[in-house]
Amino acid sequence: MSEKTNLKALSKKEIAAFFHGLGLPVYRAGQLLHWMYERHAASIDEITVFSKSLRAMLNRQAMISNISLAKSMRSADGTEKFLFALEDGQTVETVLIPDKDRLTLCISSQAGCALGCVFCQTGRLGFIRNLRAYEITDQVVAVQRRIRPKRITNVVLMGMGEPLANFTEVAEALRRIVGFIGISGRRITLSTAGVVPGMKLLAEQVPEINLAVSLNATTDETRSRLMPVNRKYPLRSLIAACREYPLKPRRRITFEYILISGINDTAEDAKRLARLLSGIRCKVNLIPLNPSEQGTLKRPEDSRILAFQKVLTDNHMTALIRESRGQDIFAACGQLRGRTT
Ligand code: SAH
Ligand code: SF4
Repeated sequence: MSEKTNLKALSKKEIAAFFHGLGLPVYRAGQLLHWMYERHAASIDEITVFSKSLRAMLNRQAMISNISLAKSMRSADGTEKFLFALEDGQTVETVLIPDKDRLTLCISSQAGCALGCVFCQTGRLGFIRNLRAYEITDQVVAVQRRIRPKRITNVVLMGMGEPLANFTEVAEALRRIVGFIGISGRRITLSTAGVVPGMKLLAEQVPEINLAVSLNATTDETRSRLMPVNRKYPLRSLIAACREYPLKPRRRITFEYILISGINDTAEDAKRLARLLSGIRCKVNLIPLNPSEQGTLKRPEDSRILAFQKVLTDNHMTALIRESRGQDIFAACGQLRGRTT
């Protein structure tokens, strides 16, 4: 017997073609999309708008896959971390972050990451594999199903992995999150460590979403030490790509800058940062380092963090200090490593 078609793995065109092949009218494909992505149907049998005989017919040919929740943990600050198991047993983490009137979901794009940034637990894992588009999208569907009637308002690709190193699947996932799930591109942000060719593709193919760049240093020497990807795409090419990024009106690039004691936290660094970014419509998120278990890197004293911020604001830049949420459950930035313990 041939394998059943996984309806969640299909793009809009593929779904239309599949239904057409079965001799079904096109509005049925629209119903399927609505039930899978907005009513979170986890099986064909849950799609009660289809008649029993239609469901039976579809069940013979097709199925709906679901990533399965292996574990969830809730932080004292309300942040919730989900560990999802994929079909091959690999695990990825997804983090739900409530903040005033927002409910932001931080999703993963790869199991592990090949870029090996020294401050990041996911980087320590090394690269395991790329996620498929439906495995990325399904993190949103699965969490949304769990928390309804509350609604996820924002999505950030800042979980495990480098999204632009898995461009094709990530771009398709973004199209589905916008088109099928109905979250506006204005409320979606992709964060990259600076994979320059991917930034150009993103601007061409999914221009409606927001871009964040993990900068973290202002000289090639320091940045290459922290983020080996800088050897391939040094600051000059990264900043040029940011300058050329076709920003929509009222949009800005977010630059993330992890503050690490004695490494990148001096007033000189802050001044260089202001110079480097001058003329780019942007804001800077200063993220005091989340120390890891084995690591020797430390977060700076609060006074240094504030002094760094002041240099930026004195230079008329928007600079916010972002304390990572969910540190007590290892759900914070750079702490995701897909383990159950
Ligand atoms: N690979 C992408 C997206 C995932 S990492 C990227 O690097 O941008 C998401 C964010 O977590 C990045 O901004 C990264 O700089 C930050 N991060 C990683 N390790 C961290 C740590 N130990 N403390 C604070 N932030 C960290
Ligand atoms: Fe990968 Fe981003 Fe972690 Fe660097 S910070 S290792 S790019 S996930």
